[in-house]
Amino acid sequence: MRGLMRRIESVAAAEGARRVVRVAVRLGALSHFSPEHFREHFVQAAAGTIARDAKVDISVSRDTRDPTAQDVVLEDIEIET
Ligand SMILES: [Zn+2]
Repeated sequence: MRGLMRRIESVAAAEGARRVVRVAVRLGALSHFSPEHFREHFVQAAAGTIARDAKVDISVSRDTRDPTAQDVVLEDIEIET
């Protein structure tokens, strides 16, 4: 979660964002997150950051053999400058 927030914040900073509007993530089949559970953690982790009001779109992979199956992959990020 911390790594994900760091990536979101570094992309936002690199693009001169005032805020992050939306992020899209994919939950790996072995990531141990349900969408609801991930959303709770995201809200906590994003509090006080540039992504605090971001909409979160979550997709879930069922492919346990995907090399990123244990990860939460940042697929897209939409910012406002
Ligand atoms: Zn938890």
